[in-house]
Amino acid sequence: MPLYRYEAKDPAKGCAKCANGFDITQSLSEAKLEKCPDCNAEIYRVICAPGLSHSKTDLHYRAKRAGFNCLKKVSKGEYEKMY
Ligand SMILES: [Zn+2]
Repeated sequence: MPLYRYEAKDPAKGCAKCANGFDITQSLSEAKLEKCPDCNAEIYRVICAPGLSHSKTDLHYRAKRAGFNCLKKVSKGEYEKMY
């Protein structure tokens, strides 16, 4: 199942979990989350699959600035760090 990353829209209102962003595994048929399961703050999905975003440079810049690693699945159970 694909791994998605979510972050609080306003980190100041989020809890420790969503303010820093968290990863969650969801099936393709599951609806994307709009609220943090812990504190109910509004969250958005961070797309980090290559080629899905037209503003890739911006996304990568943001991702790096936020200090998280974007992971690329290389095989079952193995991930390769993109940054
Ligand atoms: Zn939260």
